[in-house]
Amino acid sequence: MKKTLASIIVFSIILGSSAIAKEHGEIRWNYDEYGPKHWCNFSATCKDGKAQSPIDIQTKSTIPLKPENTLILNENVNVHASVVDNGHAIQINTANAGKLTINGKDYNLVQFHLHGKSEEKINAKQYDLVAHMVHKSEDGNLSVVAVLFKQGKQENPVLSKVISNVGSNIEINPEDLLPKNTDHYYHFMGSLTTPPCTENVNWYVLKDVQSVSKAQLKAIRKYYNHNYRPVQPLNGRDVEAR
Ligand SMILES: [Zn+2]
Repeated sequence: MKKTLASIIVFSIILGSSAIAKEHGEIRWNYDEYGPKHWCNFSATCKDGKAQSPIDIQTKSTIPLKPENTLILNENVNVHASVVDNGHAIQINTANAGKLTINGKDYNLVQFHLHGKSEEKINAKQYDLVAHMVHKSEDGNLSVVAVLFKQGKQENPVLSKVISNVGSNIEINPEDLLPKNTDHYYHFMGSLTTPPCTENVNWYVLKDVQSVSKAQLKAIRKYYNHNYRPVQPLNGRDVEAR
């Protein structure tokens, strides 16, 4: 009897500690005790992949954009969107939203989400916020447009709507998230920056930086302030610039 009680106690302690990151019966990755160093437990690609994101873009080492990688953005459309806290970031799911085209292939905007500081760096500089606009082609390929934000006086109208509507629906025009000039960007092949760290993702980091107000940053970071993965080795990849 005593032995049974003791084993129940031990079992409860083990269960209790692993329950910290458990939700719906599954261990969940995060940015803390199950952070980036442990993501290999969720997907081997996070550790073994040779084309991982994010990266530190060294502007001196970039090469000119190959014409076939030219980015054509068509985001000017009013759409319904739902704002959710996905447990790792604030994410805005869009339906029948804008699209981008690369070399004749279309990718539709399926969602965008926010990282409390930029994941990608430019010449080792981290920005105050980044929005990742995730686009998907009919055959399941992904292309992500990264919009960097720097704290400034101007509020971003899309972010204002997002902040005050977490858990409900909004109407937005994804183009309002973009800087006026989208002709200049960096392009490289990378991965998802969260498990399963899937590769073969087309990355476009826009050179023009948007403004986010101090109050907006504070409101966003109230949810997530360190949900950014450290930069990953380039492993000889080309980073193209236009
Ligand atoms: Zn992201």
